[in-house]
Order: sequence, then C-alpha cells, then structure tokens
Amino acid sequence: MDPPSATKFDVAIVGAGPAGASAAYTLARKGFKVVVLERGRTPGSKNLFGGRVYSHPLELIFEGFKNEAPIERWTKREVLSFVTEEGIVSVEYASGSSTSFTAYLSKLSAWMASKAESAGAILVTDVRVDDILMENGKAVGIVSGGDRLYADVVVIAEGVNRLLCERRNITPQLSPEEVALGVKHVIRLGTDKINDRFGLDSNEGLAWFLIGKVTDYLPGGAFLYTNSTTVSLGIVVFLSHAMKKVKRHIYEVLEDLRTSPPFTRLLEGGSLVEYGSHLTPEAGLKMMPKKLYGDGFLIVGDAAGLLINLGYTVRGVDLAAFSGYLAAEAIEEAHSLGSYTSHNLSCYERKLNDSFVMKEMKRHDSVQKLMSKSHIFELYPQVLVGTTKRLFEFEEASPKLLEAAKESLKGKGSKFKMLLDAITLMRGP
Ligand SMILES: Cc1cc2nc3c(=O)[nH]c(=O)nc-3n(C[C@H](O)[C@H](O)[C@H](O)COP(=O)(O)OP(=O)(O)OC[C@H]3O[C@@H](n4cnc5c(N)ncnc54)[C@H](O)[C@@H]3O)c2cc1C
Repeated sequence: MDPPSATKFDVAIVGAGPAGASAAYTLARKGFKVVVLERGRTPGSKNLFGGRVYSHPLELIFEGFKNEAPIERWTKREVLSFVTEEGIVSVEYASGSSTSFTAYLSKLSAWMASKAESAGAILVTDVRVDDILMENGKAVGIVSGGDRLYADVVVIAEGVNRLLCERRNITPQLSPEEVALGVKHVIRLGTDKINDRFGLDSNEGLAWFLIGKVTDYLPGGAFLYTNSTTVSLGIVVFLSHAMKKVKRHIYEVLEDLRTSPPFTRLLEGGSLVEYGSHLTPEAGLKMMPKKLYGDGFLIVGDAAGLLINLGYTVRGVDLAAFSGYLAAEAIEEAHSLGSYTSHNLSCYERKLNDSFVMKEMKRHDSVQKLMSKSHIFELYPQVLVGTTKRLFEFEEASPKLLEAAKESLKGKGSKFKMLLDAITLMRGP
C-alpha cells in the first residue's frame, strides 16, 4: 500500500513490532489519526525472538487478548541447566498455572497490528522510514524514499538497531558491549512428539535455558521453547564477546548444540522450518537514552533499551508493548495540554517510571550487569557440574556435600567473588 502522502496524521509510528503496534492500537482507540510505517512485507516479518511472553501487560492493553492472540502453549515447565563437557545439572520447576506463553513473534506482532488496524490505525508495510523529519528542532513527520509524511507526533518504535535515533543524534551509536546476537532454529516435530519427548500435555509449554558449554562459555546462553507443533532452539551471545572470542560462525555454535546430547535425541526426525538472527539490547539502564522524549517525538520498546535478561528468563515483548501503551497515554495527556512540546510529552517518562517497566528495569539492573561477566558462564557451570559429578559418581567412599563442593572449586576462582555474585543476585549491588 502507498502511504497517503498528502494527508497529515496526528501520530506517525515507525515500526509495527510489539511497541509500535500497542501504541497504534491504544491511540486509534482514543480517536487519534494514526499511521504505522513498517519496513517488513507484513508486520513481524523482520522480527525474531526466543519464544516466551509474559501475558499480563498484554491483557491490560488488548481487549480479547487471551481468546484471540496467537498463543502457542502456556508455559508450565521451566528448566535451567548448567552444561559442561562433564555433564549437565538442571533445576526444574513445574506448575499447573502459568503467567507466560510461547509464541512466534511474527504472528504475535501481526495480530497486534491487525488489532490496531481494526481500531482505525492505518498500517503501511514494505516502507522503510529513512529519517525523522525535523523543523526547528521539532519532529514533524518522517521521510521515506524522498517522500515526506507529516504528523504532530512521531513514535520511534524501530527496535534495537535504532538507526533513526542515531542519525538524529538522539542516541549515541550502539556499541557491541550493549547488545547480544541471537540465532534461532524453528524445528517442526509435531504435537505428539513434542508432548512425549518433553513430558508435556497438549497446550503445556516448556521454557528451557542453558548456560556454559552451549555458548563456548561466553556470556549468553541457549534456549528451547515448545510451540504447538514446533520447537524454537537458539543461542544468544554478547556481541563484544562473540567478536573477540568466537573463532567460527555463530551458526556453527548453534549447530553444535542441536547435534549434541540431549538435543539429538529430543529433536530426532524434526525438520528445520525457519532460521534467523537478530540483535537484542542487553545493557540494562546503561543502554537507555538519557531522554525518551523530545519536541514532537517519543521512543519506545527496544529502541529505548527496555529489556531484562535474568539468565533464566528474558522479558522484552511485554516491556515493549507496555511502553507503547504508555506513550499513547502520554500523547493523549500532551494533546489535552494543547501541544506536543518536549515539556508536555515528558509525562511519558513519569508514566514509565511509575509503571512496572522502569521499576523492573531498575530492580534487575545489577543482575543484568552480572550477565555480561565471563566468569558467571564458566565458573558456575564447572562448579555445579563438578560437585554433582563427585556426589553421584564414586567407587567406595562418597564425599560429603561440602567436600565435593570444595574439591570442584579448587583452583577455579575466588570464594569472595562468588560471595559477591550471590549477594548481587539476591539483593542487588
Ligand atoms: C534472540 C532473541 C530472543 C529473545 N527472546 C525473547 C523472549 O523469549 N521473550 C521476550 O519477551 N523477548 C525476547 N526478546 C526481545 C524481544 O524480541 C524484543 O524486546 C521485542 O521484540 C521489542 O519490540 P519492539 O517493538 O521494540 O521492536 P521489534 O520487535 O524489533 O520491532 C521493530 C519493528 O520496526 C521495524 N523497523 C525498524 N526500522 C524501521 C524503519 N526505518 N522503517 C520502518 N520500519 C522499521 C522493524 O521491521 C520491526 O518490525 C528476544 C530477542 C532476541 C533477539
């Protein structure tokens, strides 16, 4: 569809990911004239994620979410595994209830965008926005392929790469320390095999995180999520470490994982239906722009650096969607004040700070920092697997728990450092 170039909109939104689509849906329902510009052929076609979303924020935003959204399975089993050459130690949690579900980001984004369209937003796909149109320091629209489209406010929902923000010096250039590279395979196995092999009932989902050897001991980890008929298997590695230390293509690291036990058996007979790679923000508060608003614009979602990686779970979609929703609320408030000045739009930051989004970002910032430290991904898998091996593999004399732990720790690192890590994990810095 061609963008309606002569028309002026109340709001132009760049990007139809969870952040942009949620902003569009909320604004359209409030009666704003909204256009969403998406460079993919369909919303979501350029998007990739691991596979699990926390549903509560989305239920607050989208009417009919639980019945209509493309939910694959409700996550009812969680596994965290520490992997070394010697073995694997896992912690498992299973429950009859669930607050998160597995999904394809492409389908979820497309569904959100269709809700926005039903509410009255105009979606224009296959259009790359080249620049934010600025006049006297104020955003007044966007530029695409030489065409100008005017709007009172621009919502920048362009995702992690944030090239538009960089071009306009709204954010500094991304550094490899701030992002991780994720690669993912989607493997079709069929519902019955998934249920049998992963011990699930239909509609029950598994979220499995692995750290250690799975990324050649680099900061990051592997993940496996079960969908209805497919499994999403991937790895994420901090880009700065990947650039310095991975001597082969990152796809080969994932291929090694897929063809190693226990995955060879679990995925046997499966066919690869999709693969892709994407960056993800990983630097917590450090990656957030100093200001998420300016004259005539707001920044939402990954572009605003809103992502939490705790090592055992990742949250990006719910934070992105809720920031889009809050941006819409802020635009409505600025509208009632009569203009979209930086001052009037600053209520967006206040709304974010008051919401779970910034409270969670702040609460977990120290753990996010820990997630970029190399020793976490080498020392702890080695010590945990080493200790467990000593406890279970003996000939006559079996060690006491403390002896086994001391033996496996020998020469591996400072106990003081481990104590500091434990304090950070439990309490913050
Ligand atoms: C490997 C990996 C695993 C992840 N796992 C999870 C997980 O399990 N759970 C979770 O909640 N989160 C996860 N995330 C994070 C999650 O995917 C993001 O936080 C979320 O998608 C951010 O939404 P967004 O709308 O801000 O950005 P995006 O989803 O990236 O959407 C941005 C949109 O903007 C469009 N766009 C960009 N530039 C332009 C332009 N110039 N013109 C027009 N359109 C443009 C893009 O095509 C895209 O559609 C993961 C991410 C990765 C990479």
